[in-house]
Amino acid sequence: MRLSKPDAPQLQARLRAAYPDARCALDHLDPFQLVVATILSAQCTDARVNLTTPALFARFPDAASLAQARLDELEGLIKSTGFYHNKAKNLIGLAQALLARHGGQVPADLATLTALPGVGQKTANVVLSNAFGVPALPVDTHIFRVARRLGLSKATTPEKVEADLCALFPREDWIELHHQLIFHGRRVCDARRPDCAGCTLLDLCPTGLGKMKDPHLGVKLITGAPDLPASAFSSQAPSTTGPQRIVSLVPSVTELLVQWGLATRLAGRSRYCIEPRWIRNTVPAVGGTKDPDLGRIRDLAPDLVILEKDENPEAVADALTALGIPWLVLEIRTVKDCIAALRSLGELLGVGEAAEVQATALEKALKKRHRKGPRALALVWREPWMSAGPDTYVGDLLRQGGVTPIGPDRYPALSEETLVALDPRIILLPTEPYRFNRRHQAELQRLCPEAAVHLVDGQALTWYLSRTEQGLELVRALSIS
Ligand code: SF4
Repeated sequence: MRLSKPDAPQLQARLRAAYPDARCALDHLDPFQLVVATILSAQCTDARVNLTTPALFARFPDAASLAQARLDELEGLIKSTGFYHNKAKNLIGLAQALLARHGGQVPADLATLTALPGVGQKTANVVLSNAFGVPALPVDTHIFRVARRLGLSKATTPEKVEADLCALFPREDWIELHHQLIFHGRRVCDARRPDCAGCTLLDLCPTGLGKMKDPHLGVKLITGAPDLPASAFSSQAPSTTGPQRIVSLVPSVTELLVQWGLATRLAGRSRYCIEPRWIRNTVPAVGGTKDPDLGRIRDLAPDLVILEKDENPEAVADALTALGIPWLVLEIRTVKDCIAALRSLGELLGVGEAAEVQATALEKALKKRHRKGPRALALVWREPWMSAGPDTYVGDLLRQGGVTPIGPDRYPALSEETLVALDPRIILLPTEPYRFNRRHQAELQRLCPEAAVHLVDGQALTWYLSRTEQGLELVRALSIS
């Protein structure tokens, strides 16, 4: 079975509404870092690769340095990504070939890229599309599964599925579609337990509707699924219910609203609301979190201001009340708080279905928690050292991710003696709110030689709602490394 061509635009519209900010999940600054990260991502999660590459690129920042790498040192740096003997050999071979044939630069055409050691068609297309903007639709495990379930292809190899998809969708949409299908595979169309009931594509999907066996699992997922009218899925389209002019002072909520397709309702943001990047040019800033410009907010005539209990002083809410501006304050201390907040925000803003998809995915993610893991300390500031305690959102994220948060509650300052006495087995140094770097990592490693000290993505660790799933994945990768 194959999705008819008229349905392709509809499928794209649904994916666009569900994942407006879908993007490459591998952290990279240039084509060289991307090709290396993509090679490391074979048989490995992107989260784990992102934990590995900061140290790797600090040691080997370019092809010239990597070409000189000692095999055993490189293997040690990339060991946690699996298959590290082969990957290390390929990376050194890649770097030597880049130096010898291309002046150390990554070439921007398919044939030349695929002639490099360790670079197959998929890796080449990832690099071409993400680093050079060349239309490509590389098929990874998620796209392979989702495309076949949706009936977009019956092919049994990634290369053939890629050819089918390229024939079905306009060339200018390939890059965007690639990321959207990956997001869909990760968040909804899980390999073992696809959330068909909560899927925005259900009425387009022969597998979800039980019209054919799941090509991935070999069984029917849903038999006799109800004949739902197309209108049952229309809530992914921009909603017109609820507040229409929102000022968000919470970075992760701003990002969440964009994820829900509500960017046009953002009337203002705090200067710390910086994701997705393009909102910096399109949504006016209204100052910081402690001291927002109330006059600017008033001039924007919002019908809702979203605040956060820990960051925005009560005086801000009082001032908004005095101006007659409605506000809502979030207090998130656990992952379960996130689930409840997703549902209530989704209902308030008229995007209940999109919110339910995320809430259900989080509930499922929480069920995967198995054990009480090593003692972990998450630091959030330097001079003095400050930690996020077990009763904070970060503390609960650690707990749900399989490690044991330690230290006093809330955000205490810690002397070096206290820090050492806590005897952490894992220390997390997020890149925000404090910009921890390798110097701090080395300093902590000297203080606590028994601990594994990790520099981690601060947004994944501290941004609740929009990044909670990513945060859980990050902590779980650490807890089993
Ligand atoms: S309906 Fe089910 S099988 Fe089909 S795309 Fe959605 S989650 Fe995947």
